[in-house]
Amino acid sequence: MSEPTPTPITGTCLCRSLKLIIPSGITPIKTLLCHCVDCQKNSGAPFQSNAMFNTSDLIIEDPQGLLKTYKIEEGTASGKPKEKGWCGKCGCPLYTKPGHYEGRMMVVKTGFLDGGADHFPPQIEIFTADRAKFLAPAEGVKQFERMPH
Ligand SMILES: [Zn+2]
Ligand SMILES: [Zn+2]
Repeated sequence: MSEPTPTPITGTCLCRSLKLIIPSGITPIKTLLCHCVDCQKNSGAPFQSNAMFNTSDLIIEDPQGLLKTYKIEEGTASGKPKEKGWCGKCGCPLYTKPGHYEGRMMVVKTGFLDGGADHFPPQIEIFTADRAKFLAPAEGVKQFERMPH
């Protein structure tokens, strides 16, 4: 179960220029590990640890105007276009906005949060069909071979 954040949670990109703030009292809509090929490429890692929020609940501080976005139009695992945001200086991925929600939802990459991904343990693991063979399922976490419906 996800609980409301007791205190604000912050995260910064690798060069510390961009800051994302999750205010206190915000509950993620869902938390997940995603093993899809897009997540592998976006992170350069075998999977991404994600937490989805209402976009309007989050604050991004970008005093130098470094945030860049890229729209993935075709070939996404979900079949819907999505936007990704990252730091234009250091390349750190911050979020994706699934096209399905027309920008209203922001999927935050929990690995860049101060204190790490333990703020938002996964409720589900998805696209396990693409999971690296050397990784085991996370204990007690519901598994889905593809996108659950
Ligand atoms: Zn940066
Ligand atoms: Zn994914």
